[in-house]
Amino acid sequence: MKGEGGSKYEASGSAYPKSGRVVLHIDMNAFYCSVHESAEPDKYRGKPLAVAGSVELRKGIVVTSSYPARARGVRTGMTVREAQRLCPGLILLKPDFELYRRFSLRFLEIAGDYSPLVEPVSIDECYVDISGSKSFGTPLEIATEIQRRIREELGLPCSIGVAPNKLLAKTASDMKKPNGLTVLRLRDVPAVLWPRPCAELYGIGAKTAAKLERLNIRTLGELAGSDERLLADQFGVTGSWLKRAANGWDESPVVAEREQAKSVGHTVTLPQDVTDPDEVKRVLLNSPQRSLRIHRSNYDPQARHAYDHTLANTSCPYGRYEGSVQSGVQSVRPSLAGPKADPAAWRRLPKLAR
Ligand SMILES: [Mg+2]
Repeated sequence: MKGEGGSKYEASGSAYPKSGRVVLHIDMNAFYCSVHESAEPDKYRGKPLAVAGSVELRKGIVVTSSYPARARGVRTGMTVREAQRLCPGLILLKPDFELYRRFSLRFLEIAGDYSPLVEPVSIDECYVDISGSKSFGTPLEIATEIQRRIREELGLPCSIGVAPNKLLAKTASDMKKPNGLTVLRLRDVPAVLWPRPCAELYGIGAKTAAKLERLNIRTLGELAGSDERLLADQFGVTGSWLKRAANGWDESPVVAEREQAKSVGHTVTLPQDVTDPDEVKRVLLNSPQRSLRIHRSNYDPQARHAYDHTLANTSCPYGRYEGSVQSGVQSVRPSLAGPKADPAAWRRLPKLAR
């Protein structure tokens, strides 16, 4: 792990792993307040703001607050009265979920410009699997560009974690706020995670942490090295998850498009000069899931083109190729709308991709 701009960064964020994945976790910073600032900058930019959950604002609870308000001690869950005492001049806002949703869809859209595998987690968070996105740059370049575009096009700050899986990406995005960009590799886990108390790992609740403590397991390092049978006895199936998570292992896939469930088509633009079968496999990594989803939803060939506008505008020497999955059959075909295909390059593509 290394902070923004650090030189060690290069060694991790600049390359795709030979095998395995690259996952981003994008976490919008102080999302509700940031959206209000972006929508009405003259009124709200840089001011201490709090969104409060009650119609009658003064009796409400602070749902979230802007960074200037936080600097004065305002916290989520605090009563508005208490927040106003700590921060005179605090501007109270009613939540506007329709506005938040519009901004949310737009940041998901920006993420979707770099990979079809975008999984919204909540209104202000998503995972992006960029394992097959080499044609857009290194992982760090992609993360930097997404962060820049979200700032410039939407006027919103976000923190991004870059890691080999969702668990570490989520952990990484949490390390620097606002505007953080953090790479967390598997080999950073002993130094970064293991000294921390168990409760700090995403997915370990207070109850589980308390039970672990009764077993004399206090830090994530102790959990990582603990006896799996003991954990299984005490926690059932969760037991082995606990040990794996403490080691930074997480196999859970990035599942695309919970929101836009209607469109099940899928397009990939292959990186330039794809000749390495491993690279092609990576592009097609999550296909079985897509296949299942397409199966479930009565695959509609008309729907196939109703997505992925950015990849569609990406050219490569041999033209543009679209991948589709129909009932488990994978195919990648030259696109009619793309630049003129280069037949020689097409022949160079491995069979799997053709
Ligand atoms: Mg957030």
